[in-house]
Amino acid sequence: ELQKIASAPITDGALADGHAVPLLANLGKPSEAKAAVELGAEGVGLFRTEFLFLGSTSAPTVAQQREAYTELLSAFPGKKVVVRALDAGSDKPLAFLNDAEEENPALGLRGLRALRAKEDILREQLTALAEAQAATSADLWVMAPMVADAEEAEYFVSLAKELGIRVAGVMAEVPSLALMAPEVTAVSDFVSIGTNDLTQYTLAADRLLGSVANYQDPWHPAVLRLIKLLGDAGRAAGKPVGVCGEAAADPALAVVLVGLGVTTLSMTPAALADVRAELARTTLEQATARAAAALRTSTAAAARSAAASVD
Ligand code: PEP
Ligand code: MG
Repeated sequence: ELQKIASAPITDGALADGHAVPLLANLGKPSEAKAAVELGAEGVGLFRTEFLFLGSTSAPTVAQQREAYTELLSAFPGKKVVVRALDAGSDKPLAFLNDAEEENPALGLRGLRALRAKEDILREQLTALAEAQAATSADLWVMAPMVADAEEAEYFVSLAKELGIRVAGVMAEVPSLALMAPEVTAVSDFVSIGTNDLTQYTLAADRLLGSVANYQDPWHPAVLRLIKLLGDAGRAAGKPVGVCGEAAADPALAVVLVGLGVTTLSMTPAALADVRAELARTTLEQATARAAAALRTSTAAAARSAAASVD
C-alpha cells in the first residue's frame, strides 16, 4: 500500500468532483524551481524578486535581471509563472529605493509606492521580464505588491503592458484594495491575495511582532470576508483570483478559500501534497458550505471549528 502511494503519479490539483484548482509554488530564487516541480507544482504563483536586489547598493542591470528571469521561466515551459515586482520597504528595506526615515515603515513608501516614486527601477524590471518572456515559452504573469486601489492597479497594469508584458495584475494585501474589488478587477488581468500582509493590515498587528502574533490569523472572519469580496468580484468579471500567502498552505483553510471563490493556490512547495490530498476529498459544494459556515462566525477559532463541523 505504501509502495503504491509512493509511486503514484503527481496529479494536478482538483476537487473530488473534478473541479480544477491549479496548485502553484512560491519561490524566492530560480534555483528552487527543480525541487518545486518534483513536489508537483503546476507552475509558480509567486516568484519573489527581492533576492536580486537585497544586500546591494544599486539596482541590478537589465541584463542581470533578464538572465535570472530567463533561468526561472525556462524551468516551466508552457506553464504559468507569476512574478512579483520588487517588494521593497518595511521588513525588506533597500538603501537605493527606500531613502526616507519612516516612523511606521509598514505604512510607508513600500511596494508599488516605492517603485512608482523611482519609476526607472520599475521600468527596468518590467523590461527585463518582457525580454525573458520573449525568450521562453512560459506563460509569464507579472504583479505588483502593496497596491491600495484601482488607480494604482491601472497605473501598474498599463505600464507593464506598455513595456510588453502580456498579463499584468495586482496583489491584494491592503484592505482598501479588497473593498474596491469590482473597480480593481475591471482594470487588472488577475488578482493574487497575499494573506500575510492582508491579515497584518486588516487586524492592524505587525506580522513580525511576537506580542501580537495571535492576531496574525488568516482564519479571522474579517479577513475571510475581504477575500470573499475579491472572489465575488473576480467571478463577476471573469478574472482569476489566487492566494499566495501562507493561508494557502493550510489544507482546511485552502478548502475554505476555494469556497470563497479563489481559483488557484500558491504555497511553499513542501505543502503541496497535503493541500492536494485535502482538495481531492472535497467537492465544490462542500467547500462552499464550509466557507459559508466560517464567514458567519466572529473569531478565527470559531471559523476554524465551524468549517470543520460541515461534512
Ligand atoms: C503576503 O503578504 O501574503 C505575501 C505573499 O507576500 P510576502 O509574504 O512576501 O509579504
Ligand atoms: Mg506581502
